[in-house]
Amino acid sequence: MNELTAWKCKAGHVLGQSGRNGHGIRQVIIYREAIDPDELGDAPDVLLVAEGLVMDVRCSICGDMRTWVPGEEAIQRIIKLYSRERMKDAGNASQK
Ligand SMILES: [Zn+2]
Repeated sequence: MNELTAWKCKAGHVLGQSGRNGHGIRQVIIYREAIDPDELGDAPDVLLVAEGLVMDVRCSICGDMRTWVPGEEAIQRIIKLYSRERMKDAGNASQK
C-alpha cells in the first residue's frame, strides 16, 4: 500500500492506517491496540487488514467507536465481480 494515513478515533488515538492497494482499493490496517500518538513505542501489532467490508473498530484507549467504510472503489469492484459471475451463470444456462 502507498500513501498511508493514520486512522484515528475522535480523541486522536491511532487505531490503524488506511491507504490504497495496487488496484486503487482503499484498505485499512487495524492495530491490535490503539496508539497514543504522544507515546511512540514499538511497531504496533497488526490485528487485521480490511478491504471490502464495513466494520466497527473500538479504540482500546478511550473506547470510542469508529466505523470503517471501504468506499466506492471496493463496492464497485464487488458489484463487478458479482455481475461477472451472474453473466457466467446465464451463459451456462443458455447452452443447456
Ligand atoms: Zn481513543
